[in-house]
Amino acid sequence: MITLDKVKGVGPKSKMLLGKLGIEDVESLVSHYPFRYEKIVRSDLSKAEELDKVIIDGKVDSAPILIRLKGNLNKMNIRVVTSVGKVVGVSIFNRAFLKNSLTVGTSITVFGKYERSKNIVLASEIRLGLLPKGAKIESVYHGTAGLSSKNVATFINNALMQYGSVITDYIPKEYIEKYDFLNKKTALNIVHNPSTMEKLKKATIRLKYEELFLFMTKINYLKIKNQNIKNGMEKDYKKEELDKLISSLPFELTSDQNKVLEEILEDLKSKKRMNRLLQGDVGSGKTIISILALYANYLSGYQGALMVPTEILANQHMETVSKILKDTDCKIELLVGSLTKKEKDSIHEKLKNHEIDIVIGTHALIQDDVEYDNLGLVITDEQHRFGVMQRTNLKNKGSMPDVLYMSATPIPRTYALTIYGDMDISIIESLPKGRKPITTYLKSNKDTKEIFEMMYKELEEGHQIYVIAPLIEESETLDLTTVNELKDKMEGAFGSKYNIGVVHGKLSGKDKDKIMDQFAKNKIQILISTTVIEVGVDVPNTTMIVIFDANRFGLSTLHQLRGRVGRSNLESKCILISDTDAERLKVMTKTNNGFEISEEDFKLRGHGDLFGTRQSGDMTFKIANVKEDYKILLQAKKDSMKFLESTKEEDIKLRYQIISSIKDA
Ligand code: ADP
Ligand code: MG
Repeated sequence: MITLDKVKGVGPKSKMLLGKLGIEDVESLVSHYPFRYEKIVRSDLSKAEELDKVIIDGKVDSAPILIRLKGNLNKMNIRVVTSVGKVVGVSIFNRAFLKNSLTVGTSITVFGKYERSKNIVLASEIRLGLLPKGAKIESVYHGTAGLSSKNVATFINNALMQYGSVITDYIPKEYIEKYDFLNKKTALNIVHNPSTMEKLKKATIRLKYEELFLFMTKINYLKIKNQNIKNGMEKDYKKEELDKLISSLPFELTSDQNKVLEEILEDLKSKKRMNRLLQGDVGSGKTIISILALYANYLSGYQGALMVPTEILANQHMETVSKILKDTDCKIELLVGSLTKKEKDSIHEKLKNHEIDIVIGTHALIQDDVEYDNLGLVITDEQHRFGVMQRTNLKNKGSMPDVLYMSATPIPRTYALTIYGDMDISIIESLPKGRKPITTYLKSNKDTKEIFEMMYKELEEGHQIYVIAPLIEESETLDLTTVNELKDKMEGAFGSKYNIGVVHGKLSGKDKDKIMDQFAKNKIQILISTTVIEVGVDVPNTTMIVIFDANRFGLSTLHQLRGRVGRSNLESKCILISDTDAERLKVMTKTNNGFEISEEDFKLRGHGDLFGTRQSGDMTFKIANVKEDYKILLQAKKDSMKFLESTKEEDIKLRYQIISSIKDA
């Protein structure tokens, strides 16, 4: 690692400012790529219209006149004869310090706007020297207060001059030859100082490939490493026992469910430690798969844990699992944050003594004081809600238990490869038979009457309804619909005939449970809620969800919320209410397909929000864009695998460098 203070021009202050941009050493400095390029073309002013942006060059033709303005402001006027022989006035604000260098005859380049009517260029920048021949491309960098794009450029170019040839190139020699790549120094020089778009493209591809190759090598290394972990848990159970449970289910598994179950059971039986992601859109039936896996694990004599992001979901899973396993000897307990210390202690004790076979809970499962007798399988539901740290913690609870992650956030395939590249992936593609597509309506606040009529009709048919609002109570700063306000409204409209319940994050765990339980038993017909019911909640008799201020939510959240209905063979409806943002929300009315929706969401928001911490840090690319550069990614993936399987003699050192830099290794 070469430190920044070795770079010419970088003192303690600039070092600190560069730090703000995430630049810590020479390597990260030279990979601080321009965020855009500006084409610099000399104008002869003949075609420039009033206030067009122009760049001219020429010689100073009159001594600068400095005019003091109010405050500390000043303005300077000069006359310039351009290189095409035109005389033009140039004015610039607050550059008094340039006065002495702009003597008559000095060559300068002026950037600014042309005031045609006055024949004056209002300059934003004056540089010494003429423009070089031909068009030039200028790099524009993200800077920070006190550090301009130009400062950054200077430091980068100094660093390249001093250290360009010793910066690590992460592409193995065999691939540099194979693809005829530029060497790293040349590529960096071009990307920072491109002379033509063509050369820029060539250099960019090379740097993208390098970045993706490095990334995939790390991911593939982790994957191989994981595959080589033999956890010694070759789970062995009586298949008849499992089959018996499967045939007792109130429905038949879909062929996709059978397929993914088979993949999971294979992992359990093998010596290899499972590290698998089970992906399936909302309502595709992942829960039953997790229960069957936990049961097989139990039959093999191991304990299992099911971790979920919310208490509501933990409770619901507790109910479901208990119901499905009621005729077995499997002992199941719930471990959530809202239990008393005494209750928790008792469960901890029983986990240690193997008096519990399956524990279901929130992150209370992974607190440091939780010990297991022989934890064999860990499943996390709604995986995207957990950070990497939490997951790692859980993994370490047993001596290498099998791990299954479940997620309904459909990740476009392009991203899945990078984000979950180190895992095996099982996908449930189709929903259970008989499901009818949910019809989604986009309404505005003035349609309340119509919406209430639709709700009334639904209730009359004996179905239930979710009503979602972004806030619990009035806020001074946000003019949004609140749960409390909706409660009054709904009471007024439906209260005489139907029961209305409210849940939100501020209720205690017990209160939430009570309401959810009443809703599940249809003692409550309308459930008003914040997004606490976003994930996982499963009450199939609910056929309508009404979402107020829908514009406040991301598309993926809306898709999750909508997934609370359409969970049976009844027709379901989703009503989005918003007076703005129709363009974006319209996507929801067009498709029920989670993949398409998350593609849209990715386009709009980038992938940052969706996956918690996993993608931050290692997951942010500086030059590559997983979506646009998917082909390069696939090639890099293939190459990196080959590289890891058989590294050429000349690249052994590189291999060592890469692998020793993996944080999780
Ligand atoms: P998700 O994948 O969103 O977690 P769930 O596991 O909650 O979905 O399943 C949604 C609903 O579908 C539940 O009510 C569940 O009982 C039901 N279900 C699951 N599998 C099937 C199936 N094969 N046939 C019919 N219904 C099913
Ligand atoms: Mg679920």
